[in-house]
Amino acid sequence: MRETKQWTDSERWALASETGFACAYCEVIFGSVARRPGSEPRIVRMVVEHFTPVSWTGIELDAENLVAACQICNSIKSAHLFDTVANARRYINRRWVQLGYVIEFIPTRSHFEAPELWAREYARYLRTVGIRQDAE
Ligand SMILES: [Zn+2]
Repeated sequence: MRETKQWTDSERWALASETGFACAYCEVIFGSVARRPGSEPRIVRMVVEHFTPVSWTGIELDAENLVAACQICNSIKSAHLFDTVANARRYINRRWVQLGYVIEFIPTRSHFEAPELWAREYARYLRTVGIRQDAE
């Protein structure tokens, strides 16, 4: 059993900034809220994703192989292999549609520029849609 690396905040920040704080596959901004019919709304969270699965490369720390993805795309992509990010994106976007996901809330630049206001508004929104902020 290999050990999973614990990414630091600055490593995660650097990776996320490469894609404008949005998922490399679905291009949804982290902190958005997605919902599919019959399911609870989910906060779109960032995960450090290996474009080529570690189960194939055996290498956890290959910077060239890392992308910022959301947990939804990460789970859809799973251990599938793709030759290009564009092809992965096509497959994943099709699955998003099949699964019926819609984006209910997208944070805007002003939310990032006024973090205190943003936190308050966002907390209110999350209560409105019935999510605990620490919940998946
Ligand atoms: Zn995504």
